[in-house]
Amino acid sequence: MNSVYIGIGSNIGDRESYIQTSLLRLQEYPGLQITSTSSLYETAPIGVTEQGPFLNMVAMLETEMNAFQLLEILQGIEQSLGRERDIRWGPRTIDLDILLYNQENIVAEGLVVPHPRLLQRGFVIIPLHELNPEIIIPTTNKRIDSYFNHIEDKEGVRLWKRKSTEDVFALFES
Ligand code: ATP
Ligand code: MG
Ligand code: MG
Repeated sequence: MNSVYIGIGSNIGDRESYIQTSLLRLQEYPGLQITSTSSLYETAPIGVTEQGPFLNMVAMLETEMNAFQLLEILQGIEQSLGRERDIRWGPRTIDLDILLYNQENIVAEGLVVPHPRLLQRGFVIIPLHELNPEIIIPTTNKRIDSYFNHIEDKEGVRLWKRKSTEDVFALFES
């Protein structure tokens, strides 16, 4: 089994519902289990700032799939939820990124893990840290909590809905 963290973001339409649906679709795949999810955070847009705020979350998965198979599944779910890629960093119904895959460093065409912009993003570091402050970033061998203490854009990330139980889907029902 492989341990994977994925980053989820949405800033069009019913953002919470897009995130919930993406997790439900993921859960349907055999050989894949969602083991935990963070709280939901609301984040000011970066890059292209003329767009609505994001909801962001991090989920931890256990899967038999390799990273490339998983990316394909994630991209299929993005497409099924109406994701369009016109503007880089533009508005989207759903974005599903592989943040960490075990402790592997992958550099391939179309897939770089750890996610190359992970350490610059409060909306990724904060929920990763919530799930487990001891996560090691394999490119630097440092723990996530050492980055958590030095996030530059902390003000841009606001707790939107707090996780209250370990049940992954209970969050969306409250
Ligand atoms: P960012 O990568 O800055 O978060 P984005 O998520 O909006 O931006 P996308 O349009 O979703 O970017 O993806 C662009 C390409 O990034 C995809 O076609 C995919 O092949 C590639 N990619 C590389 N590494 C990863 C990764 N770790 N997770 C997801 N996609 C990745
Ligand atoms: Mg992304
Ligand atoms: Mg993406």
